[in-house]
Amino acid sequence: MAKYKHIVVPTEGQPIKVKNKKLAVPDRPIIPVIEGDGIGRDISKATRRVVDAAVEKSFKGRKKIAWMDIYAGEKAYELYREWLPQETMDAISKYYVALKGPLTTPIGGGFRSLNVSMRQKMNLYACVRPVSYFKGVGSPVVHPERLNVVIFRENTEDVYAGIEWKKGTKDVKKVINWLNKNMGTSIRSDSGIGIKPMSVTGTKRLVRKAINYAIARKLPSVTLVHKGNIMKYTEGAFRDWGYQVAIKEFRNKIVTEDELWAKYKGKMPKGKILIKDRIADSIFQQVLTRPDEYSILATPNLNGDYLSDACAAQVGGLGMAPGANIGDYIGLFEATHGTAPKYADKDVINPGSLILSAVMMLEYLGWGKAANMIRDAIQKTIQKKTVTYDLHRQMKGARKVGTSEFATQIIKNMR
Ligand code: NAP
Repeated sequence: MAKYKHIVVPTEGQPIKVKNKKLAVPDRPIIPVIEGDGIGRDISKATRRVVDAAVEKSFKGRKKIAWMDIYAGEKAYELYREWLPQETMDAISKYYVALKGPLTTPIGGGFRSLNVSMRQKMNLYACVRPVSYFKGVGSPVVHPERLNVVIFRENTEDVYAGIEWKKGTKDVKKVINWLNKNMGTSIRSDSGIGIKPMSVTGTKRLVRKAINYAIARKLPSVTLVHKGNIMKYTEGAFRDWGYQVAIKEFRNKIVTEDELWAKYKGKMPKGKILIKDRIADSIFQQVLTRPDEYSILATPNLNGDYLSDACAAQVGGLGMAPGANIGDYIGLFEATHGTAPKYADKDVINPGSLILSAVMMLEYLGWGKAANMIRDAIQKTIQKKTVTYDLHRQMKGARKVGTSEFATQIIKNMR
């Protein structure tokens, strides 16, 4: 076992391994967990209780998670005087699957964001965000149940790559002068500059993951979302490279939208996945007006960020929005919202986002029985109109409960 400075490895668990390019999950896997700052403390406790109860009820003691606390954010700073200690990333890399609460981004700590740093340093290139509706939750749209999508957002490139120069600096002047002199541009001297890199590598591995996910779950379509009509060599290339992966690597499993009309008269052949593409502004309309035509949305980084919040808003908001950052093997499962400091330690916030992220984690481990049990229990709890404040304000006649009580009710409603 690796020696850590502050991390205590549980003696009763075993590490997950990679064998034959697949995760081999023991019955007592060690799962690192970052509690998180602010409301992270409330929702992590609630989530661990719910997950432990579902695993116990599903597998009757045969399986159990050995949680291992690891540190980032404020707690890490207290312990290590560092916001993102190396041993935290070493532990996630070694144990492959981890759960994470939200983190405060330190001001002046040398990070743009701890989350972005973790994604980039561990090459967690796919941000996966499923958005679906729980019956009974209030919604701003008439038919929220028609939306059932999984967003695969590229996590390492695009304008989020962090390559920027501030207006007026020596560096930005160098960049502007070079571009204006050598590339025939006429950029104003009072500009800030950001770079938008998008590569074949980054795009293909993301789209490949999205198609494999669709195959594994027998989903009907993968839509490549892009703004290629304007940004041809980045967003347009994302679309082209996406189709290339689909056609070259999944030829027998997919049909493109062009082929659908040219070869199949618009009637989808059985058992195939439809690969289509939509321009970003159009998809923002379509997820509102024709949501049931979409299943997986594969997107570059920036558009995926916007689109996942826009979709989450239709099904109850941030308190119900799970997510995961996934690389070749590592899966870091996290609530998509922040630390909401005004609610911290008050036992009021909705733990749904982190609980649903843990549901994704259980599926990733292959423990689908426990995952389904939690999802069903959340549905039952909401239908009984026992909810936290955020859902309460969107529902008529509901009973408002706190974070820990909501978790208790979910556990009670497990079957
Ligand atoms: P935020 O923490 O996401 O909270 C914004 C609002 O969203 C809350 O005031 C609340 O709205 C609602 N909300 C968030 N989580 C909720 C939950 N579990 N249940 C119900 N409602 C929830 O965003 P922020 O206030 O802009 O950011 C605070 C800190 O979090 C910043 O330091 C930021 O850097 C950090 N952050 C971290 C992550 C991450 O770790 N992944 C992500 C985003 C932001 P109402 O007040 O309307 O109820």
